[in-house]
Amino acid sequence: MSTPTPRAPMLSTAEALATLLSAASPIPGTESIPTLDALNRVLSADVISPLDVPPMNTSSMDGYAIRTEDLATDGDRRLPVSQRIPAGHAPEPLKPGTAARIFTGATVPPGADAIVMQEQTEAAGNEVTILHNPAPGEWITAQGADIRSGSIILPAGTRLTPQALGLAASVGCAELQVRRRVKVAVFFTGDELTMPGEPLKPGAIYNSNRFTLRGLLEKLGCEVTDYGIVPDKLDATRATLREAAQAHDLILTCGGVSVGEEDHVKPAVEAEGRLSMWQIAMKPGKPLAFGAVRRAAQQADAAATASVETFFIGLPGNPVSSFATFLLFVRPFVLLLAGMQTVEPRALSLRADFTQKKADRRNEFLRARINPAGGLDLFPNQSSAVLTSTVWGDGLIDNPPNHAISAGETVRFIPFSELLN
Ligand code: AMP
Ligand code: MG
Repeated sequence: MSTPTPRAPMLSTAEALATLLSAASPIPGTESIPTLDALNRVLSADVISPLDVPPMNTSSMDGYAIRTEDLATDGDRRLPVSQRIPAGHAPEPLKPGTAARIFTGATVPPGADAIVMQEQTEAAGNEVTILHNPAPGEWITAQGADIRSGSIILPAGTRLTPQALGLAASVGCAELQVRRRVKVAVFFTGDELTMPGEPLKPGAIYNSNRFTLRGLLEKLGCEVTDYGIVPDKLDATRATLREAAQAHDLILTCGGVSVGEEDHVKPAVEAEGRLSMWQIAMKPGKPLAFGAVRRAAQQADAAATASVETFFIGLPGNPVSSFATFLLFVRPFVLLLAGMQTVEPRALSLRADFTQKKADRRNEFLRARINPAGGLDLFPNQSSAVLTSTVWGDGLIDNPPNHAISAGETVRFIPFSELLN
């Protein structure tokens, strides 16, 4: 019999997160890639606009470009049409006392200070009657109204959404400076684990966490190496850690981090590097292991970090626990490695449409769903083994320790949409 491991002190969720995130900094390595291929990558340099957008004063209506002063006096509101300006053509300066036929997106001719939409005019032959008194600037989008030349349109640390790519393209950026993707190695331990497709022997379960965790890492934009199930033997675990440390920024495992666990992950990481075992006052979750695995200097992948070690995070094995601890801890850690500035999920204040009489000592993360009335319904079974709750739910209620919930109360809800990318 091994002596029981002394219990680590309980950390609050906030303390554990702060300690974890203080260890993370952006990985080195940047590259220039085509803007068309840059979706979900993180900018390593500010994108500065080399031009004004729009690059000239443009008409935002089909109509006539005029000088408002030509209409200032009462009387004749007819103006001869002196030119026709389709979009994409350079205009002549507007002759005083005339109008220019103009179309949406076309350049406003120098001298004109307003556009009158065609619905407020009457054209006859080569003349147009203006039926409206426009204010100066009407229906003109001024040069630089959207973007000024020299301004930062996307700061370093921005993750590139489709609309960010569109914005970069709108100022002519064909290539973008981005960080390389974070390289993460994952593996799983537990003699009970079986892959779908194989028959389930008595006492065995399917390795569902492999699918969830790989999916979560890929959604964050990581380059994932999946070592699958590593036999629960010290030598095999140490060998996998050594190999994974060479070319990755982070090694992620799940299972075997509970107190008194007969697992080999803990001693293997301790032998190959260093490890802290945390007990976090959260539910689901609780155990979390954080440390690092030494990297053999001479073998270190040149493209990987210049660091002498690779981070290690060990998640609990229960499917909902590993899911929740990934979202709350691994996600922001990985995003900081990726070079992002903002990693905090934005929470909503929503009404609880249920009552939970029993207050828990731990910070609960309850799976809940937004109902058609805009309130929150609770999944009836909050067990950390019930993966159904994570598919049914729209997010997590962050319920502070020792707090019962009454129907009608406002609670802090973190939507999965904030946590899954
Ligand atoms: P552990 O953290 O290793 O004590 O595991 C806690 C529970 O999670 C046990 O019931 C394990 O069978 C289960 N578990 C561990 N790893 C996985 C996995 N990869 N997929 C599904 N369940 C798992
Ligand atoms: Mg286990």
